[in-house]
Amino acid sequence: MIEVIKNKVASSQRLTREEGLWLLKNGSLLDLAELAETIRYRLNPQRRVTFVIDSNPNYTNICNIDCIFCAFYRHEEDNDTYTYTVDQMIERFKAAAKRGVRTVLLQGGVNPALPLEYYTEMVRRTRAEVPQIHPHFYSTSEILGMSDVSGLSVPEVLSVLKEAGLNSIPGGGAEILSDKVKRKISSKKGTSADWLNVMREAHKLGYKTTATMMYGHLEKDEDIIEHLAVIRDLQDEYHGFTAFIPWSFKPGNTPLEKIIPTYATGTRYLQMIAISRIFLDNFPHIQASWFSEGKKIGQIALSFGADDFGGVLEEENVHASANFVHTTSVKETVDLIRSAGYTPAERTTLYDIVAEYGPGEYPAAAINSARLDVKLEGTDLLTALPVLEAA
Ligand code: SF4
Repeated sequence: MIEVIKNKVASSQRLTREEGLWLLKNGSLLDLAELAETIRYRLNPQRRVTFVIDSNPNYTNICNIDCIFCAFYRHEEDNDTYTYTVDQMIERFKAAAKRGVRTVLLQGGVNPALPLEYYTEMVRRTRAEVPQIHPHFYSTSEILGMSDVSGLSVPEVLSVLKEAGLNSIPGGGAEILSDKVKRKISSKKGTSADWLNVMREAHKLGYKTTATMMYGHLEKDEDIIEHLAVIRDLQDEYHGFTAFIPWSFKPGNTPLEKIIPTYATGTRYLQMIAISRIFLDNFPHIQASWFSEGKKIGQIALSFGADDFGGVLEEENVHASANFVHTTSVKETVDLIRSAGYTPAERTTLYDIVAEYGPGEYPAAAINSARLDVKLEGTDLLTALPVLEAA
């Protein structure tokens, strides 16, 4: 079988699900790397690795979805909830932009008290008041929540957000696109078809999105291949995915920790990067992460098919809630890429190249991702809503 697969990869033929599953179960790590690198350089011939100067703040931690892999969410009655006003978030974006942040990946819990206007206002004001920042806002779960709250269909919600200025959305909320796993880890989050439908409607409207996968919990190899197969099929329809981003489950402080107390291994991550590069022949980019798996494994993943190193992540709270914190700086990100043997290149959210950095060169932004202690005073909606109404 390995020879059949090698021949197919050499002649740019797509692997079947059966071949992908065989490779994941039986392929050696070095075979995976070799095959993945063949495709990586066919799609991205330069020895260049991209990164983005970004931040991942959150506007609310109130959520009614109760995913058992999540350490981030709180219920409304908990004593450590927060919901920031649009004003507060805009001030935060302005401060981040001054420090050199160019993309904000904004997500929050699915908070049923927030009206659709809250989300559209956030986009509209970001575009108008902080034009240096690209808004990469709202996962599929939040978009489904907006649909519930407003009574509008998903395409209508996406259209309203697009009119406000949104043109890309992050790929979070997929976890594993296999309903038998989803029912166990996120039974209230909707089905795989729901996630795919939001993405399909977004792509139809011209949005660019990423696709993600969280592995290392209750899934089997078959579920991984199912996940890759359904996003590959969707990509054939509209080519709206810019990149695929796998990461491993972080058990700390989650209900699922009692069943899965440990992290997935580094070799499993390298398998995930390589199999996704090999199987997803229609995805332009595969993202490796210094953040989610550690800097050394992140560097090695660049030789397993990945051509992107993700973001500098000035702020991050979701993994931090699971006691998983890695930090870096713009300079260190550039150095990590360079010392792994690649030319670092800053990119936009949509993967356009901003600048390449030769030996000794660095971006001007001196961002550190040391977790910012900028916790704003959390507001309940009684405080937030008058601001919304006035907006
Ligand atoms: S993963 Fe998202 S939707 Fe699920 S509980 Fe956490 S915040 Fe809510």
